[in-house]
Amino acid sequence: MLADRMSRLGTETAFVVLARAKALEAKGKDIVHLEIGEPDFDTPANIIAKGVEAMQGGETHYGPAAGKPEVRKVYAEHIASDRGIDVGPENIVITPGGKPIMYFVMTALVNAGDEVIYPNPGFPIYESVINFLGAKAVALPLTEDKDFSFDIAELEKRVSDKTRMLIINSPHNPTGGVLSGADLDAIAKLAVEHDFWVLSDEIYSKIIYEGKHESISTRPGMLERTIILEGHSKTYAMTGWRLGYGVMPAELAEAVAKLQTNCNSCTASFTQIAGAEALTGPQDAAEAMVAEFKVRRDLLVEGLNAIPGITCKRPRGAFYVFPNIEGLDRKSSEIETLLLDEYGVAALSGTAFGAHGEGYLRFSYANSQEQIRKALERVGRMAKDLLG
Ligand code: PLP
Repeated sequence: MLADRMSRLGTETAFVVLARAKALEAKGKDIVHLEIGEPDFDTPANIIAKGVEAMQGGETHYGPAAGKPEVRKVYAEHIASDRGIDVGPENIVITPGGKPIMYFVMTALVNAGDEVIYPNPGFPIYESVINFLGAKAVALPLTEDKDFSFDIAELEKRVSDKTRMLIINSPHNPTGGVLSGADLDAIAKLAVEHDFWVLSDEIYSKIIYEGKHESISTRPGMLERTIILEGHSKTYAMTGWRLGYGVMPAELAEAVAKLQTNCNSCTASFTQIAGAEALTGPQDAAEAMVAEFKVRRDLLVEGLNAIPGITCKRPRGAFYVFPNIEGLDRKSSEIETLLLDEYGVAALSGTAFGAHGEGYLRFSYANSQEQIRKALERVGRMAKDLLG
């Protein structure tokens, strides 16, 4: 019934586990939700007020495909000062969430038969879109012994004359890993030398606990070959607003806007106005979220490390931990099912993020300390039952 290309399209199983967890809840089971990558906080009040005001003021019509000019300008100024790069409104395309940037940019740049190197474990949509486009998905394993970064030699081995693009994501989903400045230097050198694009997913740029986020776009020769993926979902707890953007060379921005015209016409106008307020208004609510995430990270990491059969690195960014569960001697997907069905904790198998996630689980700590404590008690009970 479906077109052939649909067999190559993957998905995000976080939504599948969320649906299963909700179904169990509907039957009366108590579930701790650590599966979904969504802040449990509400969108800050000043952003909501601006969105409502914009709607009441008539910002309810179609707008230009690439985004409202005044909002593109605000985003460009923000990125120019935050990342320290020379960009203007012509480099910005505003999209419904950060996710469409992956699809649009790869559609605009990657031909069937090209190779795209992507992090594995990594956000599942990268591999899905690469395969969908008929390109070759070349996995770059991220390893625990490197704090979920990678060896530059491993990257170099995967670069060929067909390499069209490299995808990086720092801070990283699902591991919370952060690429070092030296890593970025080395990646940039390879990109320039071998003339490939870098899609730099920086959606967690503000959720970082040690040090400051650095963008590969700042490295020599990189501005003209980097696409920054950014968005409001995580930093400002705006997942349901669907608001994100890409920063890219102007010619590519025009192509991405054309794809948007063919797809969703534009991003909701009042949402964009609220997005400009998010970047220019007070940042205290966003900073308070990060401070709370840090407390939860420490609670979860220490709690997991106290459970037999589990070890957990302390991630430097995002709101995920990626504990090693090899000591439990079961496949990650089995543990995912067991944890949800028998112990009422919704988490994701590491393999939801690619084959190199075997032996790990992902917990999102976008949930309260009370819920995290409850989850730790239940995970501990499961480990005890399994290990006898
Ligand atoms: N990139 C990464 C690494 C993510 O984890 C997510 C969301 O989970 C996104 C992009 C997309 O975010 P959104 O489309 O909600 O802005």
